[in-house]
Amino acid sequence: MALSISKVWADSRRDPMSKIADRLARIRDNIAAACERARRDPAKITTVIVTKTAPLESIFEVIRQGCLDLGENRVQNLKHVAEQVERFLAESDPGKGRRGPVRWHMIGHLQRNKVKSVLRLSSIIHSVDTLRLAEEINTCAGKQDLCPHVLLQVNCSGEPQKYGVPVGAAVPLAEQIATMPNLRLVGLMTMAPLTRNKDVVRACFARARELFEEIRKEAFVTNKFVDLSMGMSQDYEIAVEEGATILRIGSAVFA
Ligand SMILES: *Cc1c(COP(=O)(O)O)cnc(C)c1O
Repeated sequence: MALSISKVWADSRRDPMSKIADRLARIRDNIAAACERARRDPAKITTVIVTKTAPLESIFEVIRQGCLDLGENRVQNLKHVAEQVERFLAESDPGKGRRGPVRWHMIGHLQRNKVKSVLRLSSIIHSVDTLRLAEEINTCAGKQDLCPHVLLQVNCSGEPQKYGVPVGAAVPLAEQIATMPNLRLVGLMTMAPLTRNKDVVRACFARARELFEEIRKEAFVTNKFVDLSMGMSQDYEIAVEEGATILRIGSAVFA
């Protein structure tokens, strides 16, 4: 007889050797410590678990541990993993209300021809960085009668190969996006450069925070403009200290 999912669920909660659970606990502790240093409330920070190449079993474990904000950077992966997760949720103690539905965050570069399929799976897109992409999202969302949340991705490191709108062009683009009826601009997203130099990372996050505060004061945004998505496995503690409200963490959980 197949092992019931609720039994697996119960066992995994008791099993102190659960590596994923240990790593999640360590991350939670680190976030709490960074919040204390910065005098922030950890409850105001959302951690998106980035699933990417993680095995399905590990992804299910993360969900069992109560993480319901999941992120993918590629549409094809998102589609595949979201389907498997749906199946997992349907099979595991239905109706007991232990878990709400999983919320999928699209965090990677998005091509316009993939927008339609993303909107079926994800209600928050972190990687909007051009007017054309925003227009495509607005048009597709209108046809499906949706209003996805979007973040404007900003290139705060100035690296030419990076996606994201340059800092100097961010305010006018934010204003254009804010006028679109079928999406809601809820914040900014950025990625720090790949470097061990923490000062460089911190300066990048601080720049994003400044821009975030600047845009928040503009009349064109609503009071829904509240999120600053920055910080990954290597740099999430710095991101918390610099004001991130959404962290995107993958390898620190799954590697
Ligand atoms: C992969 C990825 C992450 C997570 O990176 P880790 O270093 O594995 O934590 C976060 N954001 C984006 C956009 C990514 O592509």
